Amino acid sequence: MSQYKSVKGMNDILPADVAVWQQLEECAAELFAGYGYSEIRLPIVEPTDLFCRSIGEVTDIVEKEMYTFTDRNDQKISLRPEGTASCVRACLQHGLLHKQTQKLWYSGPMFRYERPQKGRQRQFHQIGVEAFGFSGPDIDAELLMLTNRLWRVLGIDEHVTLQINSLGTLAARNEFKAELQSYLRAHEGELDEDSQRRLNSNPLRILDSKNPGTQTLLDAAPSLADYIDDESKHHFAELRERLDAAGVKYSVNSRLVRGLDYYSQTVFEWVTDSLGAQGTVCAGGRYDGLVEQLGGKPCPAVGFAMGMERLCLMLEQSKNAAAATSLDAYLIVPDNALHSSAQQIAERLRDDLPQLRLQLHCGGGSMKSQMKKADKSAAQLALIYGETEHASQSMTVKHLRDAGTEQHTLAVSELAEYLLPRIG
Ligand code: ATP
Ligand code: MG
Repeated sequence: MSQYKSVKGMNDILPADVAVWQQLEECAAELFAGYGYSEIRLPIVEPTDLFCRSIGEVTDIVEKEMYTFTDRNDQKISLRPEGTASCVRACLQHGLLHKQTQKLWYSGPMFRYERPQKGRQRQFHQIGVEAFGFSGPDIDAELLMLTNRLWRVLGIDEHVTLQINSLGTLAARNEFKAELQSYLRAHEGELDEDSQRRLNSNPLRILDSKNPGTQTLLDAAPSLADYIDDESKHHFAELRERLDAAGVKYSVNSRLVRGLDYYSQTVFEWVTDSLGAQGTVCAGGRYDGLVEQLGGKPCPAVGFAMGMERLCLMLEQSKNAAAATSLDAYLIVPDNALHSSAQQIAERLRDDLPQLRLQLHCGGGSMKSQMKKADKSAAQLALIYGETEHASQSMTVKHLRDAGTEQHTLAVSELAEYLLPRIG
């Protein structure tokens, strides 16, 4: 074994595991296109300031999870911990929000310096969706219907549930924050350590503390729902009506606050209990203030990000997981002197049958060892091109997975026609 290992928390995705990743990527891309969302591709590093300004200085991400460097020109840059900030930055930089709406999605690696465990890496992957320029609950509902449909397509819908909440406007939330803070200050000694630390910097985060003592204390605390402004209440009520009408099941979790500063009004999480502690597979909400905060004209926005590792784990556990696609045929060339002719035939077959999954044996070896490799490759057919076949410009076809079928020989010119109904 080599002395080199991947960086802790940054994993390889090996060939045997790639099929479910592709299944997730393909299903998501198709579905987004079907709802009118376009893909945007964003850089992996951004100026550090962008994240501090958007995510918030007193969040876990900015305080202790970012990978930050200075480049050779002493610029402070960070590996992106999430995609929303980059997406907003790109939209503003290229004028994409000028007198128009945008429905966008992106995917790729994100980086956070966290404690690695099942469903939690330092390099992980997200697929994110953002909609800009829509202020009504119609689009919030669309995003939830879209994700609900994705779980159905993937066959994991029975294992996820939706939690929603409204945070109200920033003003409403600030008023609540002050009340919560003064209530909790009076009970500071009873709070867990993390919550004590958050009491001054980010008291809302205390609401999603997992500590039982803290949760009991919160039962008697002021409730966010009592501070929500009327407009946000209407927004939330209409969202719920639309979800009910569409048959999207949810529960209202009044302690759902989300970790980032930029949310307002609707927030939501899709959670599962099939992954242990790391149960949130998709999370998001409305962030109407962020575009302006990053220097744009005010622009309502809503979006979510899903954790691909967690979804792939769920997919692997489900019976719907895609199997690795196998080869149609494995071309065996027992006499290496004929390999170049065989390669030309293979190339012509690829011209005629672009879908064909054909592996040409390379590297020589006996008929027996090549046959073993063909067998192991899980290909349906072995094609054998030996001296006899070369002399008559033919190919012997052997069905590897169907013992009942005799092997037979075909003219090379008839091969494409023979293979066509047998591929894919
Ligand atoms: P968590 O509470 O699990 O730390 P979060 O609130 O920090 O999640 P978001 O920033 O909302 O997560 O990211 C959206 C989704 O990305 C999460 O719901 C999760 O599925 C996934 N995710 C976040 N951090 C990680 C990570 N370190 N490893 C794997 N997946 C992650
Ligand atoms: Mg986190």
